[in-house]
Amino acid sequence: MLTSEKIKEFAYAQGADLVGIGNIERWEGAPEQMHPANIFPEAKSVIVIGCRIPRGCYRGIEEGTHFPSYPVFGYKKLNLYIRPLITYETALFIEETSGYEAVPVPPHPPESQPSGPPVAPGRAAPEVYPQFRIAAVACGLGEIGYSKVFLSPQFGPRQRLGMILTDAKLDPDPLFDGKICDRCKLCVASCPAGALLADQEITINVAGKEMTHADIHTGRCHLGHWGATAENSPFVKEAFPGMNMRMREQDMAWGAEAGRFVHALMPYIPFYQMVWKQVPGFLATCGARGCIRTCMDHLEREGRVQNSFNTGPFRRRKVWSLV
Ligand code: SF4
Ligand code: SF4
Repeated sequence: MLTSEKIKEFAYAQGADLVGIGNIERWEGAPEQMHPANIFPEAKSVIVIGCRIPRGCYRGIEEGTHFPSYPVFGYKKLNLYIRPLITYETALFIEETSGYEAVPVPPHPPESQPSGPPVAPGRAAPEVYPQFRIAAVACGLGEIGYSKVFLSPQFGPRQRLGMILTDAKLDPDPLFDGKICDRCKLCVASCPAGALLADQEITINVAGKEMTHADIHTGRCHLGHWGATAENSPFVKEAFPGMNMRMREQDMAWGAEAGRFVHALMPYIPFYQMVWKQVPGFLATCGARGCIRTCMDHLEREGRVQNSFNTGPFRRRKVWSLV
């Protein structure tokens, strides 16, 4: 008989670091375009699988001396190979051993919008994209931090998530009832793009668990990711030494404006072209300085995450800046 324990045992054996299970009722009231039941109306359970990002992926960017490790391993390797493979194998395991259906849901880009009309009356428009970080909360794996990033008690902000929907009725995990984020707001201060908006807080409720986070200006985050700030990309600095965008005044949207803008820079930046060829879609020059690196260092120093290292907290030297 298929049980929650058997699914977890299998997923952990495939290399998952976190596995949580939630019943579909926990999505009651979720927006139509994000509701898992609009992908699989018979779904009774949602399974979220987490894979840790190696802390060392951030070391080169933290030192400002080696930038590809994070986009290659922290993004591409986890997003396109390891995480989907574990999700896929676990979905196969459910179907092969139980006769229940299992829908593996792939990661999707931020700000994904419906594209096209509903295919029949009463259906949501394609594409329906459940929020992975919300699902991770609903499956008992952790909480949403002030940065809007999902935090687990094991790794803080340092994991990527996968999702499976199934019509098997599984025993759900309880919601996480601890507290990881202490609202230090260091993530806000450390974001090189000013993308975390502390003056625009949003409170969400996931299955009765209330959490407040800063809104994120996704266009600024996109610009920060690509190092369009004067302070955090030596590659942009070399190609455009006079560029000094006032990031906190930018109001570009994620894809339509910020995306076009940073792509227009690419032909002049050989390093970006090289990384883009290896990992299309995964340039991350800012190395998540505020929302992951600063946050994980803080959580490690405060003893608020379980995954610790012999050498102590992550940050060893003053954070560098080109301005
Ligand atoms: S840095 Fe981390 S712990 Fe501090 S407020 Fe931001 S999300 Fe919370
Ligand atoms: S990824 Fe970078 S730019 Fe975006 S919110 Fe995090 S620290 Fe800021």
